[in-house]
Amino acid sequence: MKLDFLKKPEGIQGTSIVLSIYTTLVFHVPAFKAVLENIESGWNGALIFTSVAVLMLVVNFFFYDLLLWLGRTVGKAIIAFTFIADAISLYFINTYEVLITDAMMGNVFNTRYSEASGFFSWVAILYVLFLGVPPCIYLFVKKTTFSTFKKFLANIGMSLLIILLVVIANMRNTLWIDNNSTQLGSLLMPWSYTVNTFRYYGKVKKRNQKEIQLPDAQFTNDSKDVVVLIIGESARRQNFSLYGYERNTNPLLAGDSVKAYIANSAATYTTAAVKAILDHKPTGKLYEILPNYLYRNGVDVVWRSYNWGQPPLHIKKYINYKGLAQKHPEAKKDYDELLLAGLQEEILSSDHNKQLIVLHCSTSHGPTYNKKYPAEFEKFTPACNTVEISTADRQELLNAYDNTILYTDYLVHSVIEVLKQIPDRRCCMMFVSDHGESLGEDNLFMHGMPKNVAPKEQFEIPFIVWQNDSNTEMKNLPEVEQYYVFHSVMNYLGMQSEIYNENMNIFVPTEK
Ligand SMILES: [Zn+2]
Repeated sequence: MKLDFLKKPEGIQGTSIVLSIYTTLVFHVPAFKAVLENIESGWNGALIFTSVAVLMLVVNFFFYDLLLWLGRTVGKAIIAFTFIADAISLYFINTYEVLITDAMMGNVFNTRYSEASGFFSWVAILYVLFLGVPPCIYLFVKKTTFSTFKKFLANIGMSLLIILLVVIANMRNTLWIDNNSTQLGSLLMPWSYTVNTFRYYGKVKKRNQKEIQLPDAQFTNDSKDVVVLIIGESARRQNFSLYGYERNTNPLLAGDSVKAYIANSAATYTTAAVKAILDHKPTGKLYEILPNYLYRNGVDVVWRSYNWGQPPLHIKKYINYKGLAQKHPEAKKDYDELLLAGLQEEILSSDHNKQLIVLHCSTSHGPTYNKKYPAEFEKFTPACNTVEISTADRQELLNAYDNTILYTDYLVHSVIEVLKQIPDRRCCMMFVSDHGESLGEDNLFMHGMPKNVAPKEQFEIPFIVWQNDSNTEMKNLPEVEQYYVFHSVMNYLGMQSEIYNENMNIFVPTEK
């Protein structure tokens, strides 16, 4: 075979272009497949696809050019390393359909050799030999000439300009980018494994961050009490008929003698808002959160999750939707009602006097509201079924969202029904949403605006309470906060400690 073309010297600009095209055509195929699966046909879909292609070509070129010019042979070695790693990543993506996320990188770094060798395969070697090695040969055998500083700067400047233009052209697609960035980021080598390696170690650092312990608590009685705390997702107050919404979105709760408090969330995004529901006061620090505090002080604590984003939990009984689906194969696994599977048995089997059960829901999370409830809850129609909600029909969007609230009504009511079946126990249900949601008001969608500039739709939340003890009443309060959960749960479970704040407790003994 004639390999004369390798002998002809090439500038780093040309080398970078060749390597960038190679990377895009070979290693970015899974990412392009994912883009195709997540766009709708039409001009905007074509714009998104072209933008991703151009962006990848230019970003690859940018880094190859930068590494080669600054790093010379070291730069070549780094690039060669990424080709081998890209080939291995591609093998895993194609074979196991994995996404190379931070969690996946955590698995990679925590895998012992014996487990890793289980993944060894001749096919993986072929991937490396046929896809990873050829560009390395090109890189090292081909003579490279290094351009002037001026030319190098021009290349870098031009790349940045193109990236900027692509970003501007896609301003109206921020929602699409927001929804698909994690998946795409996990399929684009080498960014998937480099960026997610850093993200993984960032999370490890955060997880190992020590909680500030709160003062020990004592029990003031030994009655048998259970609190079920339901953490809602993106459920906004104004769409609950309990709070005056003109559509009947709460037909079941309306008959449940619940107390519906007015509340504003402390934040407009899940992680900060869930922390506020579990914290004893507004704080930027990591104090012991409610489930950890109660568990350490002898309460039976269960956390069932169809969501994520809570602060680190230090309890024994954490179970997510995958675990629940395995344990309860009879339950509907695609919706939040999975969180209720075997709930009654869970409560009855507890050998503690005091129990806290947290159900972390995901029901009203956009943009695909219509996928968050079973078909029989599609009462408001037609319901929007596109992911591009910014261009969707406003009424259809509201219909889909209202169906999620109708389903939430059913979920919360069902928990109350379960608690009514528990004999000889004081039982309490609290439903608090993490934050609100924008549905096109002021042309805003979803949530996450900084709290001080966010519209009210993003922080006005429902705070609904039910309990069955005739010796306990709920205070009439003009407004409450998410931090009230901590102190109210402590009060209901008969707990006292220095941290307890009566001003943030919603319960009082019934006046006789
Ligand atoms: Zn949320």
